[in-house]
Amino acid sequence: MLRKPMTKPLTVEVAIVGGGPAGLTAAIALAEAGIETALIARRAAPDHRTTALLSGSVTALETLGVWAGCAREAAPLRIMRIVDATARLVRAPEVRFAASEIGLDAFGHNIENRHLLTALDARACTLPSLTRLEDEARAVETNETGVSISLGGGDRIAAKLVIGADGRRSLCRTAAGIESDGHAYPQTALTFNLVHARPHQDTSTEFHTESGPFTLVPLPGDRSSLVCVVEPAEAERIAALDDTVLNEELEQRSHSILGRITVEPGRGAFPLAVETVRSFGQSRIALVGEAAHLIPPIGAQGLNLGLRDAATIGELVVSARRNGGDVGGSDLLARYDTLRRADVKSRTFAVDLLNRTLLSGFLPVQSARGVGLYLLDRIGPLRRAVLREGVAPAASQPRLMRGEAL
Ligand SMILES: Cc1cc2nc3c(=O)[nH]c(=O)nc-3n(C[C@H](O)[C@H](O)[C@H](O)COP(=O)(O)OP(=O)(O)OC[C@H]3O[C@@H](n4cnc5c(N)ncnc54)[C@H](O)[C@@H]3O)c2cc1C
Repeated sequence: MLRKPMTKPLTVEVAIVGGGPAGLTAAIALAEAGIETALIARRAAPDHRTTALLSGSVTALETLGVWAGCAREAAPLRIMRIVDATARLVRAPEVRFAASEIGLDAFGHNIENRHLLTALDARACTLPSLTRLEDEARAVETNETGVSISLGGGDRIAAKLVIGADGRRSLCRTAAGIESDGHAYPQTALTFNLVHARPHQDTSTEFHTESGPFTLVPLPGDRSSLVCVVEPAEAERIAALDDTVLNEELEQRSHSILGRITVEPGRGAFPLAVETVRSFGQSRIALVGEAAHLIPPIGAQGLNLGLRDAATIGELVVSARRNGGDVGGSDLLARYDTLRRADVKSRTFAVDLLNRTLLSGFLPVQSARGVGLYLLDRIGPLRRAVLREGVAPAASQPRLMRGEAL
């Protein structure tokens, strides 16, 4: 039955556009702290990808009461291996890291996005301060005192702040007039979930190949997720293979470390790009997740950054509200931009650099990558510093990632 549009706009303190994992996390963080919040989000389309959530993200989801709803679907990542599988003249040594080296039981946990989204949705439904509108934002207009959002079904929302969690083609980003910098790569990431004959032993293995990484990440039981980065034409060829041929090809590419492979239904293909906004927030609009930054799937950084965005804007809004400040004011948005910029920029730089060194056939570049991995393998303090920084930024760990409620 068609619902009649509301006659008056719904007035809230914060409106969030987009119900992917970043938007849902921001909505839960705010509503749990008693901020009147509207989430404008259609139910997400099926997503067969998985996310390696690093330990700070898991802590934040525990603190928000989400993790209990999906923990049994997640597999711990205790060991990470990087294997140079290129056929080049200069090859890096195999590097193997254990979470125990930095005093952790696991670097994080890998979970299918559908299970994570179900747990986030279920937690969101329990919060009285959160109104969910299953619709899409059509227009976002801001002025000095507030923001107005028009929805496809005719409703309107009035808020002091809009959080744009609306993904890589963000309407909110355009409405705020925020530009971004970046470029596309000649690469496509193919995603598969696999059942395999040998146990993964809680080990994630990243094979570095001339076309990009081929990364196996544990799932519960004898299952793993795979991200296979190849050139677009090669991606089309692999995507068109029938299951039997594909199983054989993937077993070969994985050097049979997991024995016989059976691909599960649900394949994905994602053209790769890198992109970062020039401002994380202006004109009463703050951007989180892929609306603010795109990063290739190397080293499990994308959504971990997105969750830190959500935790940071949540923290700033709750603090402004408690101090009687404007939750969408320019001071708050400037602070948000400062807090997020270094974390996002440094990780984007590192991932972009690593990806470029893989693609480059230039010998000195190959040598530099080999030497870098060699030093990482041999120098204990460097190794531990890089591991700690990879799991959690020393400089900007929001409260939720430290296990503190907002
Ligand atoms: C192959 C691959 C593997 C990855 N692996 C990892 C990993 O292991 N670890 C990790 O941390 N990250 C990983 N990432 C990155 C991670 O998947 C993304 O960062 C994450 O999905 C982005 O979440 P999001 O909520 O920002 O955006 P999205 O999930 O894109 O959600 C945006 C939502 O907004 C909605 N929307 C858009 N416009 C509107 C509108 N106008 N009105 C209402 N709703 C709207 C969309 O429908 C969508 O539901 C990976 C990415 C890829 C491609």
